[in-house]
Amino acid sequence: MSRSIPQEKVVIIGGGPAGLSAAIYLARAGLEPLVIAGSPPGGQLILTSEVENYPGYESILGPELIEKMRKQAAKFGARIVDENVAGVDFSQKNLKITLNNSVINKIYSRDQLASRQKSGPVAPRSYSKFEDSQRRSLAQTTDSFVNFIASRSVIIATGAKALWLGLESETRLRGKGVSACATCDGFFFRGKTVAVVGGGDTALEEGLTLTKFASKVIIIHRRDQFRASKVMQERVFRHPKIKVIWNATVTEILGQNKVEGIKIQVKSQKSKVKSDNLPVQGVFIAIGHQPDTEVFVGKVLTDQKGYIVNTARLALELVKVKSQKSKVKSVGQSTEIERAAHKFNPNYQTMTSVEGVFAAGDCVDYVYRQAATAVGTGVAAALEVEKWLEQ
Ligand code: NAP
Repeated sequence: MSRSIPQEKVVIIGGGPAGLSAAIYLARAGLEPLVIAGSPPGGQLILTSEVENYPGYESILGPELIEKMRKQAAKFGARIVDENVAGVDFSQKNLKITLNNSVINKIYSRDQLASRQKSGPVAPRSYSKFEDSQRRSLAQTTDSFVNFIASRSVIIATGAKALWLGLESETRLRGKGVSACATCDGFFFRGKTVAVVGGGDTALEEGLTLTKFASKVIIIHRRDQFRASKVMQERVFRHPKIKVIWNATVTEILGQNKVEGIKIQVKSQKSKVKSDNLPVQGVFIAIGHQPDTEVFVGKVLTDQKGYIVNTARLALELVKVKSQKSKVKSVGQSTEIERAAHKFNPNYQTMTSVEGVFAAGDCVDYVYRQAATAVGTGVAAALEVEKWLEQ
């Protein structure tokens, strides 16, 4: 049987707090969002145990919070599919999202596919003769092996993963003293000694956050200098509760059911390696994050680390460029970010460099990375999609 390409009004890629909050708003607006939630779904919250900083809940387990968000979105008509997106094509107005063949049959019933075949997809707006011909060929395509869905708009909300050291003991003790978020878990280490691993802005920020709770914070860094900004370094060096151990790597986290210490290897100036055990009750791994954006690189503008640049992020980067240029008092050549600015629509803060494609949550935000901030930007993206679809 041949069938036409189904067309959605909005597809949300990602089933964490940003994607699901966007789904709740869009479903309540009657736009029947389709959420491709990922496999396994739920983002970073699913790996978190207790959450005590999400407004409205004094304490809730991460997976339980996600389940509540999913139920709420589904109640208002969002369709949620726990699958991964294989690829995207944003080169035409009718945005394409590639999924495994069998998933299309999970999303649409035979009747839906047949009725869509009769009525055909909704024609997207026409911009040029060239795009018109591309649109016609897409709209007329019938293919018994259709493996993509088409949508007028897309919200990317695929999140970011914390990077880990890769130790067996680290995985085993995650949530039992091993964490990647001081804002989330620092509270549990009141009066205790904790270690932070890493030497970037995140590690130093985690260390400073932890000083509000812990009695002592030991930063373990693999080199003899930090890569973090000068201002953060100065704050860390000044802080009486923080001690830094340079040229050190963590080789094991000690303890059976809770963290009791860490084993480190320290390289001396003469390149001699010395092992040591440090008694700590918590270990915060802060060696960077990786946004889950591989399938979007080259399709929308991303930064060097793969974070998606939307209009709000672009504006921030432009301010940074302007401030740097004013410091050196020269105009200089235009930067890549300045050259890309014309691709963005200033009326939509969450829109990416591609018209109709929006991005929210941790795949954009490399600074705050909180469930509550992801929810906020997810809602903003939903409101903007609604407005954009009406135009
Ligand atoms: P990052 O800058 O990539 O730093 C990662 C740190 O972890 C580096 O010091 C690195 O060591 C270390 N590291 C990496 N892999 C390791 C391993 N396997 N074992 C031990 N150490 C390892 O990442 P980030 O700190 O998350 O920052 C990411 C971006 O966000 C940066 O651009 C940062 O400026 C920005 N940020 C900004 C703010 C803020 O403005 N408030 C806050 C947080 C982050 P080496 O130095 O030896 O490579």
